Amino acid sequence: MALVFTFPCGRCGKKYSVYYPKAFVYSVYGTGTPAQGAREDAEEQAAGAVDAAKRRAEAVGNVWVDVSQQPKITCTCGKNLDLDLAHHPRVPQRKGVSGARQAGVIAFPSTPKGGHGTHKGTPGMPKASPSS
Ligand SMILES: [Zn+2]
Repeated sequence: MALVFTFPCGRCGKKYSVYYPKAFVYSVYGTGTPAQGAREDAEEQAAGAVDAAKRRAEAVGNVWVDVSQQPKITCTCGKNLDLDLAHHPRVPQRKGVSGARQAGVIAFPSTPKGGHGTHKGTPGMPKASPSS
């Protein structure tokens, strides 16, 4: 089962389906060894789970991102989206629990309340630098 989270851009609402390879997750959270993660990733790739998830994401218009390739992305609207799970404590870290294991939606702080929050990103106030 490929681990994919959908991140909506807090500014323009564009959706990103982010694939978290097990090797990446394990190395970050220590829930397994990188070697074990790499093996599971390979199995998922071989089983077509990753491709299937990618096709599903693209079918609904989401942008597919492999977090091991792109730990950070900048939305087309200019907002930086931080994909590091460690910065999103709401992500359930339990393994093997039935329920929201896949396709969890991590809400970015999209309502600028002003100076609240410890999120490393820039909720609501990305630097608007039209430098084209
Ligand atoms: Zn955006």
